[in-house]
This record gives sequence, C-alpha cells and structure tokens, in this order.
Amino acid sequence: MTDKPDLLLIGRVTDRMMDRLRTRFTVHSLFDEADQTAFLTREGARFTAVSTDGHHGLTPAPVEFLPNLKVVSSYGVGYDGIDAKGLAEQGVIVAHTPDVLNDEVADTAILLWLAVSRRLIPADAWARSGAWEREGAFPLTRSVQNQTVGILGFGRIGQTIAARAEMFNARVLYHARSPKDVPHTYVESPVELAAASNVLICITPGGAGTRHLVNAEVLDALGPEGILINVARGSVVDEAALVAALSEGRLGGAGLDVFEDEPQIPDALKAMEQVVLTPHVGSATVETRRAMGDLTCDNLIRFLDEGRVHTPVPECRGLNEAVA
Ligand code: NAP
Repeated sequence: MTDKPDLLLIGRVTDRMMDRLRTRFTVHSLFDEADQTAFLTREGARFTAVSTDGHHGLTPAPVEFLPNLKVVSSYGVGYDGIDAKGLAEQGVIVAHTPDVLNDEVADTAILLWLAVSRRLIPADAWARSGAWEREGAFPLTRSVQNQTVGILGFGRIGQTIAARAEMFNARVLYHARSPKDVPHTYVESPVELAAASNVLICITPGGAGTRHLVNAEVLDALGPEGILINVARGSVVDEAALVAALSEGRLGGAGLDVFEDEPQIPDALKAMEQVVLTPHVGSATVETRRAMGDLTCDNLIRFLDEGRVHTPVPECRGLNEAVA
C-alpha cells in the first residue's frame, strides 16, 4: 500500500515523464489492462487525476467510471478529444501544454510550405535516381519569396508562423473568430482569405466549431496555383474535397501534417507528387516533447500541492483561478 494518490495514465509517456509522475503518484496505465471496462468498473473511484494526450483525449467512457476525478493533464495544446466544458461543469480542471510548442509547429508549417513550393521531395528523388545525369537539370520550381500568406487561426502558433513568413518577405493576412491587435490584415472569412492568398496555412483547433472550415469553396478560392498547408487538425479540412481539388488541378499543392482518419491517409494523396505528407509530427522533436512532458507533469504536481494548475484550458480558467 502507498499513500500516493492514484493517477490514471491514458496513452504512453516518456521514461522521464513516468519517473516524475511516480515520485508523486501511484501510476496505473489503462493500456496495460486487457479489459479496460472491467478495470475501470472495479478501480475507477480511486482516481482523482488523469494524464492523457492530444491524440487519445478523454472519451466519455472512462469519465463515467471516474466519480472522484479532479484534474486532467493533457500532453499537447489541442484538446478537441476532451469535453473540457462538461468537465469544468463537474468541477474538474483540464490542463494542456500551450506555448512550449509554438516554435516547433511553426517550423513544421514553414517546412511543409517550402517543401511543396520548391518541390523538395521530387528534387531529392531526381538527385537520387540518376535523373540528373540522364535528363539534366530539375525543372524550375516556385519561389516562396514575396508571397501573400493567409493564416487561418491566429493564436499562439498562427502568430508565430506569421513572424517566420515575414522573413520570406511575405504579406500576411489572417482570419480568426475575432481581429487581433497586430500589424497584419484581418480578413472576414476563410473564402476571402483563400482568394487573396498564394498559400493558406491552417492552424485553428479541431472539433465541431472548425469542422470542414476549409471546404471545396475555400479550395477553389485558393486556386490552381495555390498551396494549402494543414498543421491544425485533419477535421478542419474536407479531405474528400481536397483530394478532388488536387486531382482535378483546381488546387496547386498541399503540405499536410494531419488527416481526417489518422493514421489512415487516402491512397490518392500518397500518389500525388504535388503533395508533401508528414505523420502528425508538428511538435515531434526531442526538445519540444521534453518541454511538453515537463509541463504535463508540472500541472499535475502543482494540482497536488496547490489545487490548481499552471496552464488550464480556457474553459477551466475560472475554476483554476477560484483556488486562491
Ligand atoms: P490558440 O492560441 O487557441 O489559437 C487558435 C486560433 O484559432 C485562434 O486565433 C482562434 O480565434 C482561432 N479559431 C478558433 N476557432 C475558429 C473558427 N471557428 N474560425 C476561425 N478561427 C478560429 O491555439 P494554438 O496554441 O495556436 O494551437 C492551435 C491548434 O494547433 C491546436 O488546437 C491544435 O489543434 C493544433 N496543433 C497541431 C499540432 C501538430 O502536431 N500538427 C501541434 C500543436 C497544435 P480567436 O483568437 O479569435 O478565438
């Protein structure tokens, strides 16, 4: 027996995270249980704390077995897989890991844009395959200099992307739910943003509020020379409409880190050389994942010590601040 509180772990964590969590909690990994429902039925009432991640979230199924839940700490900034509003109403504080990944995800967006525009993957294949010796110079590509860059979602990461785009002499436009106090032009709708942009970069949250924000109309507005970059969530882009627009030449190219049915990627996208695909690695570097892991643990440990967390999601800020 131990007097440490019980923590339910959903998903996998790094060794560093596990070591830190074990200093203060008795950690039970849900994924180690052959029959998760039986385990939760038997043991669920013991857990006051959950550690999860943006991928697994926290579905209603475990929550109904956790009557004494007080805190959920998620490894990742996006929490569309967690009903934060519902949990806040039950007095549960949900924490996430904002800011520590802004630079990494912004780098990923720029990496995809450059790779699509300058055709990095086909150029690499040209060099490796011997086509250079056989056929001569690789065809000319399109410059990323002096472009109009539309950013859909202009929060922490969107504004970090804007700062990078300026290094390429871009004119930055953006759309969000409301205008910001920034020296860039606010555009009223995703369609108008796409129509005015050479490249459209999506970096909103996922979930019902942004589902298919980028639809056929937006893609047509971006046009046959336009490039779509999605580092937000797969749900933000209508993937069927995207495949159709690319295959019919109504859209120029795409750089995609996220997909509607991860880890499934439509075969049609895999076959397109004007598309660059990455497997949801926006924040996936050793350095940034370490910072995210540390913040995930810090939130749980602070909750244990003070009853509140460092970085609550907006729906839980009131609850968190009520703890003086
Ligand atoms: P944030 O600071 O909350 O910014 C989100 C932005 O999206 C805000 O500007 C918000 O507008 C805007 N937005 C929300 N709903 C919208 C809607 N319906 N229409 C238009 N704009 C809308 O979040 P962040 O830290 O920048 O992170 C953004 C998202 O990036 C995360 O939620 C996650 O889904 C994604 N992400 C992906 C990866 C990856 O690995 N690919 C990694 C990290 C994050 P307002 O400001 O007007 O409210």
